[in-house]
Amino acid sequence: MNREELLNKIKQAGVVGAGGGGFPAFKKLDANVEHIIANGVECEPLLYKDREVMLQEADKLIAGLIIVKSITGASKPTIAIKRKNSDLIDLLKPSADKYDIELFIMENVYPAGDEYILVYDVTGKRIPPLGIPLQVGCVVENVESLINITNAVNDIPVTEKYLTIAGAVNNPVTIKVPLGTSYEKCLEFAGGAAVERFSVLTGGVMMGSVVSDLSLSVSKTLSGLIVLPEDHSIVVRKTTPAKVYHNIGHSACDQCSICTQLCPRYILGYPIQPHLVMRSLQMTGDEKERLSNWAQNCCECNVCSLFACPEKLDPKNICTDTKKRLRKENKGFSKTELDVLFNDVHPVRDGREIPISFLYKRLGIKKYDRKADFVKTAQVNSVKIELKNTFGGDAVPCVNPGDVVSKGQMIGKVNGNALATPFHSSIDGRVKEIVNNCVIITSNNS
Ligand code: SF4
Ligand code: SF4
Repeated sequence: MNREELLNKIKQAGVVGAGGGGFPAFKKLDANVEHIIANGVECEPLLYKDREVMLQEADKLIAGLIIVKSITGASKPTIAIKRKNSDLIDLLKPSADKYDIELFIMENVYPAGDEYILVYDVTGKRIPPLGIPLQVGCVVENVESLINITNAVNDIPVTEKYLTIAGAVNNPVTIKVPLGTSYEKCLEFAGGAAVERFSVLTGGVMMGSVVSDLSLSVSKTLSGLIVLPEDHSIVVRKTTPAKVYHNIGHSACDQCSICTQLCPRYILGYPIQPHLVMRSLQMTGDEKERLSNWAQNCCECNVCSLFACPEKLDPKNICTDTKKRLRKENKGFSKTELDVLFNDVHPVRDGREIPISFLYKRLGIKKYDRKADFVKTAQVNSVKIELKNTFGGDAVPCVNPGDVVSKGQMIGKVNGNALATPFHSSIDGRVKEIVNNCVIITSNNS
């Protein structure tokens, strides 16, 4: 198969970034690069999804890297993996040696999996401020995306998702479920919540958000569901209304700058200084605008809010809100300013990385630090597949209520949009209804 045929298969199979980003793989891979990095670093506390993906489907991971290498012409495929996963390193090493793939071993620190940090650690090159890995000759793919690429080339579309269900549940697990499985059903696979009043975080403790609707369903980008007691400090912090954290930030920030000193992007030299963004809350006019610009390079890792700030303020959300406003108003540092403000890597970087064990203690989740091994590929009788792409707009249904569908059959097609990808049925069954661009399918056994 030539490059165009491979990219078309990857597009038609609906492969997007499975680590949370959701960027379409066919578009990302349509480039010539030097490095391909398989991101298996997984630094969110309590998540074991990527580790289990690699353990379960090591051969498909290697095959995916070889496919991606042939598409992009990369000379240096790398699997980035944490030292703590020594069993996995032993498993991958023979194939890695055979196919000339580097295993890049990283320490157990947060946020090692951030693309900017990963690219720097693996290649020594820094992505330009607000840039993408391609600008320094790199493509980064989540390990599950690479498995989906292998499947796509074998005409198997994306219909399933690995995820970890952990926290205050009876039996933390990693499972593979059909796309469109409800969160409620997923919690059942983990034995249900272990506390009466609980909240659910999607994605992870650090970067995830609290959801209240358990009828929502598993998407192509979900990595996990973390259950916490509804009065847990993380839940309280993540559900504080914007008006409240802006008002408290305005009055209580003492400008100690610890948030900036520990910001992983600042330490890497990027023009980001959350304490200056906090100062902007007290300003108006030009001075407010000038200080707001220091939010632009925030990756929303939450180190500043959930780990650094001694006053428990929320510089991360202030930076996120400020970034959105700057984008909407087409403001921010100019390209020339960004280049000038892009500093050398901070000399004490090694001493400022955050060991995951510290993070567990600071977040108050040490008691939930239990392994979540892979248990099974789960079967369900009903799925609700939202035809929503993170990039390129939604797909449109190409089935009707009452239609009989089989697993892998296309149910949402794209109408020529350059970035959108299609969706496929994740079970055998019949289309029950289509509501709000969600295709609800019930199985033949229900
Ligand atoms: S969330 Fe905070 S620590 Fe993380 S990049 Fe943004 S400003 Fe820096
Ligand atoms: S760490 Fe907290 S108090 Fe200190 S400057 Fe940052 S937001 Fe303000």
